[in-house]
Amino acid sequence: MLEKFERYPLTFGPTPIERLGRLGQHLGDKVEIYAKREDCNSGLAFGGNKLRKLEYIIPDAIASDADTLVTVGGVQSNHTRMVAAVAAKIGMKCLLVQESWVPHADVVYDRVGNILLSRIMGAEVRLVDEGFDIGIRHSWEKALYEVKARGGRPYAIPAGASVHPYGGLGYVGFAEEVRAQEKQLGFAFDYIVVCAVTGSTHAGMIVGFALDGRQRNVIGVDASATPAKTKAQVLSIAQHTAMLVELGTELVDDDVVLLEDYAYPGYGIPSEETKEAIRLCARLEGMITDPVYEGKSMQGMIDLVQRGFFPQGSRVLYAHLGGAPAINGYGYTFRNG
Ligand code: PLP
Repeated sequence: MLEKFERYPLTFGPTPIERLGRLGQHLGDKVEIYAKREDCNSGLAFGGNKLRKLEYIIPDAIASDADTLVTVGGVQSNHTRMVAAVAAKIGMKCLLVQESWVPHADVVYDRVGNILLSRIMGAEVRLVDEGFDIGIRHSWEKALYEVKARGGRPYAIPAGASVHPYGGLGYVGFAEEVRAQEKQLGFAFDYIVVCAVTGSTHAGMIVGFALDGRQRNVIGVDASATPAKTKAQVLSIAQHTAMLVELGTELVDDDVVLLEDYAYPGYGIPSEETKEAIRLCARLEGMITDPVYEGKSMQGMIDLVQRGFFPQGSRVLYAHLGGAPAINGYGYTFRNG
């Protein structure tokens, strides 16, 4: 579906799929759990889901003759770290607007993890005191204007690289990759579990898996705590992406399966159950998930297995989208292990 789109390679190639046997056993061996390790997809600053998206966005940035990538996220945004890495790799400047999306207890929160890496990679980091919202941000528009005013040529990448015309393409590619891996494995996955916030990861998967009618088997786990906005954004990106790739199937509201039960108490704040899921997965599999995103989708998957949501014997693929560097901002949360 993606042949006609230009792609700038930023990842190593297909990401590995591994069985999470000890986690599955701990949960009663009711289902087989696998993880697709998007967190190990690149040598660029610890990798993660944004690189798949940026592979289809960067050709446009280069063609536009821009000299500065400008984007926005929270203080511990993985997305801004990934844009800083890509800017370094392709020889562009980078301006990051980092908003106060998360109340935090750690005194080093704005000096470690993702933001530390972005600073080391040479990005101009601008801290802005604005709260969480997945929509188009005034602070980002202002930054774009300012780059122009000082004679630069900005290229605009919205939060999460989502509401960009090509934002959904990367995860269409994920589905195509899974289909090829299923052929090698000799079986197909019954469910795919994915964390959703700005929406283009889930949206791309919906489009990619719609090709074989599996779009409703993609189980989105909301981590935004503003699920109505995330769901609407997933649907609109999926519909736009479906048009771009000429899917030929109309995607409707019910094609977006987004579970709302795990984002509490708020974006970026882990509940006791999220922390338990992070510890469990780390202690049984040595696999690190973070308190903002993957810890919540991990919590969701564990709960769904325990509640019997997946029929006995199902093969469940957990998409690990990255995000571990943010855990450095949560030392206080995990001070007792
Ligand atoms: N997981 C991680 C580690 C992320 O950085 C993000 C980014 O927001 C997500 C999940 C959610 O992806 P999306 O914003 O495409 O919904």
